[in-house]
Amino acid sequence: MMSAPLVADLHLHSHHSDGVLAPAALIELCASRGVTHAALTDHDTLEGCLEARDACARQGLRHVAGVEVSCGWNGQTLHVIGLEFDLEDPALALHLADIRARRAARIAEIGERLERKARLPGKALAAKILGRDAVPTRMHLARELVAAGHAKDIGDAFATWLTRGRPGHAPIAWPTLAETVARLRGAGARVVLAHPHRYELSAGALRRLLGEFRAEGGEAIEVAVAGIGPSDLDRLATLARHHGFAASTGSDFHDPAIPWNPPGRFAKLPADLEPLAARLA
Ligand code: AMP
Ligand code: MN
Ligand code: MN
Ligand code: MN
Repeated sequence: MMSAPLVADLHLHSHHSDGVLAPAALIELCASRGVTHAALTDHDTLEGCLEARDACARQGLRHVAGVEVSCGWNGQTLHVIGLEFDLEDPALALHLADIRARRAARIAEIGERLERKARLPGKALAAKILGRDAVPTRMHLARELVAAGHAKDIGDAFATWLTRGRPGHAPIAWPTLAETVARLRGAGARVVLAHPHRYELSAGALRRLLGEFRAEGGEAIEVAVAGIGPSDLDRLATLARHHGFAASTGSDFHDPAIPWNPPGRFAKLPADLEPLAARLA
């Protein structure tokens, strides 16, 4: 008998970070799109996990506890995903609360810079976000800049105002990769490096990163990510084989208004790679 196909979307966002749907609505959308395993991986918060778990139980999906944690490596921001861990782990909760505090300070700083350098109402936009969003991200600011007519879309808001070299760029010191992996493993997580092809790293630096990540206890890298091109997919597959990583799959879905990465849509994994989802109980 053929086993049912595995559609494991292990990278999803809700309105508890910079997505727009509530966890229950997100999981309903996943179910309607044929997702079999779902991990809500909000940035730096576990807030939506119980709602996602209950919704998965109602919809007959396998729920995987998840989080996408921001960290730093050689001056680069990286995202590390923890899966299947203890949601009550106190050290992880403290780690995430510390990151949220750093995020809030950064959004206030970006608001001031937008005001000072670009004469935009940055302070008011930052205050609105800080009063509303528990995980204040640049995505929230990008949405506000679009809504106020200062950018034509999210991509334009980042490119014009928020990225390095633009008036609203403000540095942030994240906890290190090593610390982050240790924290997640302390909570019992399987640890996955998110979207390795998106970092601005040379081939050599990426190999070094993956070697360190493996040595620290990283188990998988995302390989089948929404929007990845064939040459990046091939490159990540080669790296996964070389370092002995399992391969994770996910859409990085944030918003139903963005049509190219709905839940459950991502590239097919090369047949010889072990899907991380196959290791989930
Ligand atoms: P932050 O973690 O506060 O730096 O916010 C970054 C979030 O914004 C990411 O998680 C992405 O969802 C999104 N993002 C980052 N860069 C871009 C970009 N250039 N265009 C569109 N969205 C972006
Ligand atoms: Mn995001
Ligand atoms: Mn990410
Ligand atoms: Mn993400």
